[in-house]
Amino acid sequence: MRLQTRIVVLFLALMLAIQLAGFAIIRAGIQQNARTEIGTQLAAGERVLDRLLAQSAQKLTQGARLLAADYGFREALASDDRETIGSALGNHSGRIGATLALLYGLDGAERARSAVPSLAQADAATGAWINRLIAQAERDGDAAGTRVIDGRLHQVVVVPVKAPIPIAWVAMGFAVDEELARDLRQLSLLHVSFVDRRDGRHTVLGSTLSEAARAALAQQAPDIAFPSAALGELELVGESFGMRVHPVGAGQTGAATFAVLQRSIEEAIAPYRRLQLTLLLLTAFGLAASVLGSVLTARRITRPVLDLVNGARLLARGDYSVRVQVPQRDEIGQLASAFNQMSEGLSVRERQITRLAYWDTLTGLPNRVQFVDKLREALERNRKQERMCSVLMMDLDRFKVVNDVLGHQIGDVLLREAAERLMIGLAGRTDLIARLGGDEFAVLLEGESPEAAVQWGRSILLALEAPFSVQGQTVDLRASIGIAGYPAHGTEGTLLLSRAEVAMYTSKSRNAGILVYDPRFDENSQRNLSLMTELKQAIEQNQFVLLYQPKVHIASGEVWGGEALIRWAHPQRGFVPPDRFIPFAEQTGFIRDITRWVLRQAVTQCAAWRARGHAWSIAVNLSTRDLMDLELPQWLGELLQAHGVPPAAIGLEITESAIMEDPARALQTLELLDGMGFGLSIDDFGTGYSSLAYLKRLPIQELKIDKSFVMSLNRDADDAIIVRATVDLAHNLGVKVVAEGVESAEIWSMLRALGCDLGQGYHLSKPVRPEEFERWAMHGYSEAAA
Ligand code: C2E
Ligand code: CA
Ligand code: CA
Repeated sequence: MRLQTRIVVLFLALMLAIQLAGFAIIRAGIQQNARTEIGTQLAAGERVLDRLLAQSAQKLTQGARLLAADYGFREALASDDRETIGSALGNHSGRIGATLALLYGLDGAERARSAVPSLAQADAATGAWINRLIAQAERDGDAAGTRVIDGRLHQVVVVPVKAPIPIAWVAMGFAVDEELARDLRQLSLLHVSFVDRRDGRHTVLGSTLSEAARAALAQQAPDIAFPSAALGELELVGESFGMRVHPVGAGQTGAATFAVLQRSIEEAIAPYRRLQLTLLLLTAFGLAASVLGSVLTARRITRPVLDLVNGARLLARGDYSVRVQVPQRDEIGQLASAFNQMSEGLSVRERQITRLAYWDTLTGLPNRVQFVDKLREALERNRKQERMCSVLMMDLDRFKVVNDVLGHQIGDVLLREAAERLMIGLAGRTDLIARLGGDEFAVLLEGESPEAAVQWGRSILLALEAPFSVQGQTVDLRASIGIAGYPAHGTEGTLLLSRAEVAMYTSKSRNAGILVYDPRFDENSQRNLSLMTELKQAIEQNQFVLLYQPKVHIASGEVWGGEALIRWAHPQRGFVPPDRFIPFAEQTGFIRDITRWVLRQAVTQCAAWRARGHAWSIAVNLSTRDLMDLELPQWLGELLQAHGVPPAAIGLEITESAIMEDPARALQTLELLDGMGFGLSIDDFGTGYSSLAYLKRLPIQELKIDKSFVMSLNRDADDAIIVRATVDLAHNLGVKVVAEGVESAEIWSMLRALGCDLGQGYHLSKPVRPEEFERWAMHGYSEAAA
């Protein structure tokens, strides 16, 4: 049952019970009251009846006395003038309205009677009864009595006719019936009936009751306890009466007359009926009012409760804007305000959760979840408009190393900075830019073909080129970019994203900078997965080979030694160039194992040559990771000692960018290696951003000008200027200069003219196996031979 209904029903039931109880109590009170009143009225009526009877007896007595004193009457008695006697009886009785007038002689015999028409005859029994009254009057002066005579109840008085002694007796009587009863009823509101009992039969002689009631009374009379002064109740023709029985005359034996006084209970209650009706109306009004009141109260309670229920449903559906308006200040009002606070709290928390779920807190950019969502929406849009778009994914190179080495705090700063550069590179394009996680960023370029996206990629890489400066340190951050285009490379967001990722990883492993997705990359990336295990196998199964490329003093043609360059002879794939696995090994950290393998190989080779009297040095390439490997210097020292090779016979080539990734740390390692006596060389010089002023602080003996400047030295005037400037500056710093990528005799002689110290390149020899190197170096370099 609904709460509202329950409240209303409860209120109603209570109200009804109270009203009914009140009604019943009042009704009982009224009945009680009416009965008491009826009792009083009946008692009073009894007295009035006695009084009326007494009055009429007095009236009769006076009338009879007047007659007895009448001179003419007495004359007539004396003379026994029957006619006069008769008329005197008639006159006197007629004057007072008596219905019976008789004259008795002293002997007790009737001498005359009036010509009262109603009186038919006085029987013998009546004569005897009158004689008894006469006997009483002889004693008391007069006598009165009541008796049914000729079918009617009579009140009869007897007085003597004195002359001066009694000479006769006059009996005079009234019929006590309807009239008296009516008088009584008028005076007392009571019904009165005269009942005569004779020989066990009851006759109603006169009554104010209706004919039917009269008959009913006669019928019930045997059950009424006569005579009784007690109060009783009587039901006649469907009406209830309070009743009292009053004896009015005793007749001959076995006969008696009673007045039955009745008061209608209904009549007595009638005045209260109005009161009851008023009360009933009041009850009805009270009920109506309580229904209204309870409905209103229930509404007051249930309306806000329903509002709260609806509010809770909306909340459950995720609508946190719901507020329940309850003006009340009671508990329900408090509940509503608590509910509103809850809703508010939920919405705040939801906003926070959404922020965490859809935004990257570090850079303030959207995160992967949001990017994927928005990408799906954008593709939907572009599908309808038949527009192209491109997904660009960018990953910082070697960021993991930077993060590990410099600490996460600086890593975070760098990531924020990288995000800003990314936006600079996009030149204010309001495209969707997201940080997917780690050092991975993604950009959605709407309306751009993959080819156009490549231009944007270039712009981003350009923005990243300037070194980052964090807490006084300069850090070089490079990035690899992969691009996938809609609809050429996929029509679904997640597919496009994963293809951009494949392109990005391929670009990274190839050091390509930017690559647009190509289905062949998938195979590559598949291959990359197995590359790691294969690299491990390569060392175990001796698949690596170390070749040596001569480094020669330009001025003298004397062989300094050779640069060790690794080769991988893969059993299935065949020859794998170092560019295809060195960057991968650097990313995964496997370069550590490769470097140690190369060093072991090179030192062994160096020892072998030295044993045969060749004092050739060997240059080995080191990667960024190797500079972070704090155990390397000691390991290398032990290795040299084991083979009896002096550190000066080993040159270490480190690329400029490897140093710039973590200059402080690099400096530390370089100083350590320098202290141990190794010759240190800056490789690929000119491709990075390190200034010579900075390099001055490094403990290096050699600069290796990148082959890109050397190879076109004979064709490009700028390259010549760069080489010349580098040579001059290096010499000023007391550092030797090596040119790699010497492909022709022309370049060789130009380098000599520029004062370059050492040369290396295909013009002299390609990287070759140690036996071949030995053969080549034994003859030394002669321009004629080359
Ligand atoms: P790099 O250290 O700059 O090595 C020189 C590269 O230039 C070698 O390529 C060599 O074959 C090539 N080269 C020599 N003379 C000429 C020339 O006259 N013209 C042209 N066009 N190229 C010439 P390679 O052997 O393919 O090695 C590529 C890169 O792989 C190396 O560049 C180096 O960075 C890396 N690498 C090779 N071996 C190792 C290694 O053992 N350890 C480490 N960490 N990196 C290695
Ligand atoms: Ca090198
Ligand atoms: Ca180089």
